Amino acid sequence: MTTETKDYRLDGIYRQRQEGYFMQRVKLPAGVISASQARTVATIAQDFGRGSIHLTTRGNMEIHWLREGDLPIVKRELAKVGLTSRGACGRAVRGITCASQGSLGFPALETMARRLQRHFTGNPRFERLPKKFKIGIEADVVGGRHLIQDVGLVLSRVENGAAWYDLWVAGGLGREPRAASLLVEAVDERRIIPLVEAVVTVYAAHAPAGRRLKYLASEMGDDELRRLILAQPSATEELPPVSGLPEHLVPAPHGRQRLEVRIFAGLLPSDQLHWLAAFADARADGVLMATPDQDVALQLADGVDGATAGGELAAAGFTGGLGPGQTRFRVCPGNHECLAGLAPTRDVAKAVMDVLGPEGAKLTWAISGCHNSCTQPQLADAGIAVSRLAVTADGDKEPRFDLYRRTAGGLGNRVGEQLTQEALLEAVRCIG
Ligand code: SF4
Repeated sequence: MTTETKDYRLDGIYRQRQEGYFMQRVKLPAGVISASQARTVATIAQDFGRGSIHLTTRGNMEIHWLREGDLPIVKRELAKVGLTSRGACGRAVRGITCASQGSLGFPALETMARRLQRHFTGNPRFERLPKKFKIGIEADVVGGRHLIQDVGLVLSRVENGAAWYDLWVAGGLGREPRAASLLVEAVDERRIIPLVEAVVTVYAAHAPAGRRLKYLASEMGDDELRRLILAQPSATEELPPVSGLPEHLVPAPHGRQRLEVRIFAGLLPSDQLHWLAAFADARADGVLMATPDQDVALQLADGVDGATAGGELAAAGFTGGLGPGQTRFRVCPGNHECLAGLAPTRDVAKAVMDVLGPEGAKLTWAISGCHNSCTQPQLADAGIAVSRLAVTADGDKEPRFDLYRRTAGGLGNRVGEQLTQEALLEAVRCIG
């Protein structure tokens, strides 16, 4: 790998499977983006990509099909509206994800996500880590997303405008999934940034190149990892309280309705993003949210009627709104665009949806095109991951699929291994 490629990764850029094309990822703290920022992303996709935005399962946005010469222009255009891609890929602290955008505590979570992103992004101390470092922030443990982060923050209480968090560490999926363990409970928000810094410092100092924090935890054990983290000087540091005006863009949800717009496989045409930005300006305080289910959510402004706004979305051709909409199905780019992809994930997802019975359609689904598990198949009710390519009798290569079911807390269990696509579809039919 060339030095040039590494530098592109730190700028949130991956090479695509197709020679000469690049993908630009944009970091959105807790998935929040203003309407004017969304218009810029849509215009970049229109002018430099192929008119489509990919919504990721960490609430970020990606623009594919960029040429190398476009990259500096794209970076400038993003910077003009306050968007950053620094550290969105590569060995850095990645975008701060949040699946609790509809919760009462979301303003506190969005604020903390912004502070964390500001602190760790572009800071040379926290770049060129052994591998990527993922932080998630949640209002509760229900979805289990705190379990798959290097650091998972879970809101434990809010009092008089101040927040406390439980801090989970060393989770992750991939070939060797590992659920995070609880490091410390009810941490005052003023201690969160220094404490996360302590975790990153231990990770950078002790993990071998190419390994995540979960590897370190498995090797040395949770107790030793905890001891090392808590021995860091910053682990007990308390920053001064932050004063000033509120930082969050999404207002407190009291009395407001939330609309979710389903976007199949997170593939959002740029003209639709332009439309949603205008809708957000008119109906949702000029703010949109990219959800970790690859949809777009809007919190309606005071006095906006949900049924009327939902009707406007439906008239514009969107599904979802206030109702259940189509089945939730997280889908990564697979070998449509991703270098690591082993299967055409969107095509397989469509084939799965075609055979879903009424029970299956009620579940949440996810498919990942390789063992990296970017769509978190182990956290969906039913998840699919391509495990390998098998060589057939004719010498062709065919993907083999693992099937997961999650029926309780924690990570889902593998219930089918190395299935052909035919066997996978049969197993899906059996779900009902
Ligand atoms: S799961 Fe694999 S194929 Fe899918 S986006 Fe991630 S790395 Fe690419």
